[in-house]
Amino acid sequence: MRTKLVEGLREKGIADEAVLQAIQHIPRHFFLDTAFESIAYEDRAFPIGEGQTISQPYTVAYQTQLLEVKPFDKVLEIGTGSAYQSCVLAELGAHVYTIERQKKLYEQLKHFIFRTRYPTIKFFYGDGYEGLPTYAPFDRVIVTAAAPEIPRKLLEQLKTGGMMVIPVGGAAGQRMLRITKTGDDDFEEEAYDNFSFVPMLSGKGH
Ligand code: SAH
Repeated sequence: MRTKLVEGLREKGIADEAVLQAIQHIPRHFFLDTAFESIAYEDRAFPIGEGQTISQPYTVAYQTQLLEVKPFDKVLEIGTGSAYQSCVLAELGAHVYTIERQKKLYEQLKHFIFRTRYPTIKFFYGDGYEGLPTYAPFDRVIVTAAAPEIPRKLLEQLKTGGMMVIPVGGAAGQRMLRITKTGDDDFEEEAYDNFSFVPMLSGKGH
Protein backbone atom coordinates (compact mmCIF):
# COMPACT_ATOMS: atom_id res chain seq x y z
CA MET A 1 0.00 0.00 0.00
CA ARG A 2 2.87 2.32 0.79
CA THR A 3 4.50 1.59 -2.56
CA LYS A 4 1.23 2.46 -4.26
CA LEU A 5 1.03 5.70 -2.28
CA VAL A 6 4.57 6.62 -3.35
CA GLU A 7 3.77 5.82 -7.00
CA GLY A 8 0.73 8.10 -6.75
CA LEU A 9 2.88 10.94 -5.34
CA ARG A 10 5.34 10.48 -8.17
CA GLU A 11 2.49 10.76 -10.70
CA LYS A 12 1.31 13.95 -8.97
CA GLY A 13 4.73 15.50 -9.57
CA ILE A 14 6.84 14.74 -6.47
CA ALA A 15 10.29 14.05 -7.92
CA ASP A 16 12.67 14.20 -4.95
CA GLU A 17 13.76 10.57 -4.45
CA ALA A 18 14.91 11.12 -0.86
CA VAL A 19 11.46 12.47 0.07
CA LEU A 20 9.71 9.55 -1.68
CA GLN A 21 12.01 7.09 0.10
CA ALA A 22 11.23 8.65 3.48
CA ILE A 23 7.48 8.23 2.85
CA GLN A 24 8.13 4.67 1.67
CA HIS A 25 9.83 3.89 5.01
CA ILE A 26 7.26 5.31 7.44
CA PRO A 27 4.22 3.21 8.40
CA ARG A 28 1.59 5.95 8.21
CA HIS A 29 -1.13 3.78 9.76
CA PHE A 30 0.59 4.10 13.16
CA PHE A 31 -0.22 7.80 13.11
CA LEU A 32 -3.97 7.32 12.78
CA ASP A 33 -6.69 5.81 14.94
CA THR A 34 -7.11 2.08 14.25
CA ALA A 35 -10.51 2.82 12.70
CA PHE A 36 -8.67 4.41 9.79
CA GLU A 37 -5.98 1.77 9.32
CA SER A 38 -7.23 0.34 6.04
CA ILE A 39 -7.40 3.75 4.39
CA ALA A 40 -4.20 5.15 5.89
CA TYR A 41 -2.42 4.96 2.57
CA GLU A 42 -4.96 6.89 0.56
CA ASP A 43 -3.65 10.30 -0.38
CA ARG A 44 -5.92 12.30 1.91
CA ALA A 45 -5.95 14.12 5.24
CA PHE A 46 -7.38 12.48 8.42
CA PRO A 47 -8.66 13.70 11.79
CA ILE A 48 -6.23 13.19 14.71
CA GLY A 49 -8.43 14.65 17.46
CA GLU A 50 -8.90 18.15 18.89
CA GLY A 51 -10.28 19.26 15.51
CA GLN A 52 -6.85 18.81 13.91
CA THR A 53 -5.68 16.71 10.99
CA ILE A 54 -2.67 14.77 9.77
CA SER A 55 -1.80 16.43 6.46
CA GLN A 56 -2.39 14.70 3.15
CA PRO A 57 0.77 12.78 2.06
CA TYR A 58 0.95 14.91 -1.09
CA THR A 59 1.05 18.07 1.02
CA VAL A 60 3.75 16.61 3.30
CA ALA A 61 5.81 15.54 0.28
CA TYR A 62 5.30 18.90 -1.44
CA GLN A 63 6.43 20.96 1.54
CA THR A 64 9.34 18.65 2.30
CA GLN A 65 10.53 18.74 -1.30
CA LEU A 66 10.51 22.56 -1.26
CA LEU A 67 12.43 22.59 2.04
CA GLU A 68 15.48 20.84 0.48
CA VAL A 69 16.56 19.25 3.76
CA LYS A 70 20.10 17.91 4.10
CA PRO A 71 21.35 15.44 6.74
CA PHE A 72 22.14 17.18 10.07
CA ASP A 73 20.10 20.28 9.18
CA LYS A 74 18.47 21.87 12.23
CA VAL A 75 14.79 22.11 11.32
CA LEU A 76 12.08 23.97 13.25
CA GLU A 77 8.56 22.66 12.61
CA ILE A 78 5.43 24.55 13.67
CA GLY A 79 2.39 22.28 14.24
CA THR A 80 3.51 18.81 15.38
CA GLY A 81 0.01 17.29 15.10
CA SER A 82 0.50 13.54 14.57
CA ALA A 83 4.30 13.97 14.14
CA TYR A 84 4.11 12.31 10.72
CA GLN A 85 5.79 15.29 9.04
CA SER A 86 8.40 15.35 11.85
CA CYS A 87 9.25 11.71 11.08
CA VAL A 88 9.62 12.43 7.36
CA LEU A 89 12.12 15.16 8.25
CA ALA A 90 13.95 12.83 10.67
CA GLU A 91 14.14 10.14 7.94
CA LEU A 92 15.97 12.71 5.82
CA GLY A 93 18.57 13.04 8.57
CA ALA A 94 17.34 16.32 10.03
CA HIS A 95 17.47 17.30 13.70
CA VAL A 96 13.87 18.27 14.26
CA TYR A 97 12.52 20.77 16.82
CA THR A 98 8.75 20.60 16.63
CA ILE A 99 6.18 22.77 18.46
CA GLU A 100 2.51 22.00 19.15
CA ARG A 101 0.13 24.48 20.82
CA GLN A 102 -2.62 21.98 21.73
CA LYS A 103 -1.80 20.41 25.09
CA LYS A 104 -3.72 17.18 24.41
CA LEU A 105 -1.94 16.53 21.12
CA TYR A 106 1.40 17.30 22.75
CA GLU A 107 0.60 14.93 25.66
CA GLN A 108 -0.44 12.14 23.27
CA LEU A 109 3.05 12.21 21.79
CA LYS A 110 4.56 11.20 25.15
CA HIS A 111 3.48 7.66 24.26
CA PHE A 112 4.52 8.03 20.65
CA ILE A 113 5.91 4.67 19.51
CA PHE A 114 8.46 6.29 17.19
CA ARG A 115 10.25 8.21 19.97
CA THR A 116 13.00 5.59 20.05
CA ARG A 117 13.13 5.13 16.28
CA TYR A 118 13.62 8.88 15.77
CA PRO A 119 15.69 10.21 18.68
CA THR A 120 16.55 13.27 16.57
CA ILE A 121 13.05 14.73 17.09
CA LYS A 122 12.59 17.08 20.07
CA PHE A 123 8.99 17.89 21.09
CA PHE A 124 7.88 21.23 22.54
CA TYR A 125 4.56 22.53 23.87
CA GLY A 126 4.16 26.19 23.03
CA ASP A 127 3.16 28.90 20.61
CA GLY A 128 4.77 28.47 17.21
CA TYR A 129 4.61 32.23 16.58
CA GLU A 130 7.37 32.55 19.18
CA GLY A 131 9.58 29.87 17.61
CA LEU A 132 12.36 28.51 19.85
CA PRO A 133 14.82 31.37 20.45
CA THR A 134 16.93 29.16 22.76
CA TYR A 135 17.69 26.73 19.95
CA ALA A 136 17.92 29.25 17.09
CA PRO A 137 19.24 29.75 14.48
CA PHE A 138 17.74 27.04 12.25
CA ASP A 139 18.74 25.88 8.77
CA ARG A 140 15.11 25.33 7.89
CA VAL A 141 11.67 26.30 9.19
CA ILE A 142 8.49 24.51 8.12
CA VAL A 143 5.04 25.72 9.13
CA THR A 144 2.27 23.12 8.81
CA ALA A 145 -0.71 25.34 9.67
CA ALA A 146 -2.17 28.28 7.70
CA ALA A 147 -0.44 31.51 8.73
CA PRO A 148 -2.34 34.77 8.13
CA GLU A 149 1.05 36.39 7.50
CA ILE A 150 4.73 35.47 7.73
CA PRO A 151 5.68 35.41 11.44
CA ARG A 152 8.51 37.87 11.97
CA LYS A 153 10.13 35.94 14.83
CA LEU A 154 10.46 32.83 12.68
CA LEU A 155 12.33 34.81 10.02
CA GLU A 156 14.68 36.09 12.72
CA GLN A 157 15.42 32.52 13.86
CA LEU A 158 16.57 31.43 10.38
CA LYS A 159 20.26 31.18 9.54
CA THR A 160 21.51 33.30 6.67
CA GLY A 161 21.18 31.01 3.65
CA GLY A 162 18.33 29.18 5.42
CA MET A 163 14.83 28.62 4.07
CA MET A 164 11.29 28.64 5.41
CA VAL A 165 8.32 26.90 3.76
CA ILE A 166 4.95 28.24 4.91
CA PRO A 167 1.34 28.29 3.68
CA VAL A 168 0.17 31.92 3.91
CA GLY A 169 -3.45 33.03 3.68
CA GLY A 170 -6.89 32.89 5.29
CA ALA A 171 -9.67 30.32 5.54
CA ALA A 172 -10.39 30.47 1.78
CA GLY A 173 -6.99 28.97 0.97
CA GLN A 174 -3.28 29.60 1.28
CA ARG A 175 -0.40 30.06 -1.07
CA MET A 176 2.70 27.97 -0.35
CA LEU A 177 5.67 30.30 0.00
CA ARG A 178 9.37 29.56 0.23
CA ILE A 179 11.41 32.33 1.81
CA THR A 180 15.19 32.31 1.63
CA LYS A 181 17.18 34.43 4.06
CA THR A 182 19.85 36.03 1.91
CA GLY A 183 21.26 38.42 4.54
CA ASP A 184 20.69 39.64 8.12
CA ASP A 185 17.46 41.33 7.09
CA ASP A 186 17.19 40.34 3.43
CA PHE A 187 14.75 37.78 2.12
CA GLU A 188 13.70 36.32 -1.21
CA GLU A 189 10.21 34.97 -1.66
CA GLU A 190 8.98 32.34 -4.14
CA ALA A 191 5.28 31.48 -4.48
CA TYR A 192 4.00 27.99 -5.29
CA ASP A 193 0.61 26.21 -5.35
CA ASN A 194 -2.50 26.77 -3.24
CA PHE A 195 -3.41 24.55 -0.29
CA SER A 196 -5.93 24.35 2.51
CA PHE A 197 -4.50 23.96 6.05
CA VAL A 198 -6.06 24.29 9.49
CA PRO A 199 -5.33 27.78 10.88
CA MET A 200 -2.19 28.71 12.82
CA LEU A 201 -3.64 30.08 16.08
CA SER A 202 -1.90 32.39 18.55
CA GLY A 203 -1.03 31.50 22.12
CA LYS A 204 -1.00 28.09 23.77
CA GLY A 205 -4.20 26.00 23.77
CA HIS A 206 -5.40 23.57 26.44
N1 SAH B 1 2.53 18.42 10.77
C1 SAH B 1 1.27 17.83 11.22
C2 SAH B 1 0.09 18.59 10.67
C3 SAH B 1 -0.87 18.92 11.78
S1 SAH B 1 -2.14 20.08 11.40
C4 SAH B 1 1.23 16.34 10.87
O1 SAH B 1 2.09 15.86 10.15
O2 SAH B 1 0.33 15.64 11.37
C5 SAH B 1 -1.50 21.56 12.12
C6 SAH B 1 -1.14 21.54 13.59
O3 SAH B 1 -0.67 22.85 13.92
C7 SAH B 1 -2.29 21.25 14.55
O4 SAH B 1 -1.92 20.17 15.36
C8 SAH B 1 -2.44 22.55 15.35
O5 SAH B 1 -2.83 22.34 16.69
C9 SAH B 1 -1.04 23.13 15.26
N2 SAH B 1 -0.93 24.58 15.47
C10 SAH B 1 -1.78 25.57 15.09
N3 SAH B 1 -1.31 26.77 15.47
C11 SAH B 1 -0.14 26.56 16.12
C12 SAH B 1 0.83 27.40 16.77
N4 SAH B 1 0.68 28.72 16.85
N5 SAH B 1 1.92 26.81 17.31
C13 SAH B 1 2.11 25.46 17.26
N6 SAH B 1 1.23 24.63 16.68
C14 SAH B 1 0.12 25.15 16.12
